[in-house]
Amino acid sequence: MAKCSICGKPAVYVSRAAGLALCQRHFLEYFDRKVRRTIRRYQLFKPREHIVVAASGGKDSMALLHYLHNLAKRVPGWKVSALLVDEGIGGYREYTVKRLVDYAEEHGVEYYIAKFKDYIGYTLDKIVRMGREKGLPYLPCTYCGVFRRYIMNRAAREIGATVVATGHNLDDIVQTFLMNVLGNDWAKIVRLGPVSGPANHPRFVRKVKPFYEVLEKETTLYAVLHGLYTGFEECPYAQMSMRWTVRRMINELEERSPGVKYSLLRSLETAIGILRRQGIGEPSDEEGLYTCALCGEPAAHPICRACQLRLELGIMEVSREKLESLPPEARQMVENALRLAEKRK
Ligand SMILES: [Zn+2]
Ligand SMILES: [Zn+2]
Repeated sequence: MAKCSICGKPAVYVSRAAGLALCQRHFLEYFDRKVRRTIRRYQLFKPREHIVVAASGGKDSMALLHYLHNLAKRVPGWKVSALLVDEGIGGYREYTVKRLVDYAEEHGVEYYIAKFKDYIGYTLDKIVRMGREKGLPYLPCTYCGVFRRYIMNRAAREIGATVVATGHNLDDIVQTFLMNVLGNDWAKIVRLGPVSGPANHPRFVRKVKPFYEVLEKETTLYAVLHGLYTGFEECPYAQMSMRWTVRRMINELEERSPGVKYSLLRSLETAIGILRRQGIGEPSDEEGLYTCALCGEPAAHPICRACQLRLELGIMEVSREKLESLPPEARQMVENALRLAEKRK
């Protein structure tokens, strides 16, 4: 059995990339140093913050909630609470909701639950069924991702968050990076930094990723060591996603040449730097984000993705007067979406 490189006690963690083995105590110190370095390096938080952790009840977000809840005890200007977006995926979400609620009650953390049903009108299961019936070309993860981000921003703002922290780890980030490379989607790659902006929209809540430089096996071990990981749950839709394949590929590469994941992260940072200098992807600072002409939320286009999907699904009505009052670009987008919905009926 491997021994801790620092004290010689039995190791709980081995990093082939760093040539390092660590016992429980030294692993937790290493983990803490790593996260604090990320927070400092990218200036994730300000002296006064209401940090809302985007909690799914899964191991990464539970680890993040636990980590920030404890860190905030030493920072007087910080308040940490948790926000869970409940999509209503039967046989999956119930368990993770319970895990969050149990934790929050035990540790005295304020928590909020925002349901798809309340914000969108339907559960994700229902939306996926409707999308299939209408023959829309989207995977479940598309609806989930779009509506989840939409609800997260709105609900976080409603509870007074100044920043939302998400549990994305290094593995998640390099997977998304590679998926966007495969899709030649460089505008999305620009937004994969540890702080997602641009934040100059009054309704946009800044999003940060404190586990940006932490491997998934490290967040998992952190969760296990704190009793936050009681079993394996995978979203039932996960295997239908491209991410599933990309994840397996990257893990195989890492197995063969340790350090590949870090190297991918550095490549991503280089790419973001180059893209920013070229002005690719981000709306210019003067323009900032759009404001969705239908719902008023921040958007990358004149109509936000969430409204666009709702129109295509036929679960959002736009009156004739409203349609005629829209600016030309927005009106065009609405008409296109409505036409799609009509054609597939
Ligand atoms: Zn040790
Ligand atoms: Zn909208």
